Amino acid sequence: MTFPEAALCDTLNRNVSKSGYVKPTPVQKHGIPIIAAGRDLMACAQTGSGKTAAFLLPILQKLMADGVAASQFSELQEPEALIVAPTRELINQIYMEARKFAHGTCVRPVVVYGGISTGYTIREVLKGCNVLCGTPGRLLDIIGRGKIGLSKLKYLVLDEADRMLDMGFEPDMRRLVGSPGMPPKDQRQTLLFSATYPEDIQRLAADFLKTDYLFLA
Ligand code: AMP
Repeated sequence: MTFPEAALCDTLNRNVSKSGYVKPTPVQKHGIPIIAAGRDLMACAQTGSGKTAAFLLPILQKLMADGVAASQFSELQEPEALIVAPTRELINQIYMEARKFAHGTCVRPVVVYGGISTGYTIREVLKGCNVLCGTPGRLLDIIGRGKIGLSKLKYLVLDEADRMLDMGFEPDMRRLVGSPGMPPKDQRQTLLFSATYPEDIQRLAADFLKTDYLFLA
């Protein structure tokens, strides 16, 4: 797959070119068509592999193709994509990439992590948010307050899952994925990224992904 073959809309293509991306990295080349086809995915990918664009570009394209972002964007919109990563640095990088790629579209990404006031982040989300990026603890906090609904959620990305386990976030991840209102796995598309694929990650994949998920190494 080349970027033109990814069939992205003009705005996304322009933003990809502006980023200086000419040739997709391997995880983009193989991952984008799988995600675009709507399949659940467990991808082994290191930091620096280009995995962020591998999941963001097809998700943004699908949000725009669904017409949700363009036609129904309004205040109080619930997130359609939820992206979870272990640290504020990583989730900020993902958020900045999402903003860069979503530039010129109606898709509004919001980031939440510990250290930003909860009231502020809830207000930001309630202004309208298609793509919610966050660390597990803060996401659980704001979702647990019942202020942010998950009924529109279609895409769930768990990035650097092995680091989340190393940092002791497994209970938080499980609580988040089991949150009241979280669509069950057959009603969402779930993408799991991890540098390694030990038994505990295989268990997460079995629990969070549909049984016919694809594996990319
Ligand atoms: P990531 O693994 O997603 O953190 O990406 C690592 C770095 O590679 C980031 O600085 C990206 O902007 C950059 N990058 C991702 N995909 C490409 C690409 N296809 N061409 C050039 N640079 C890229």
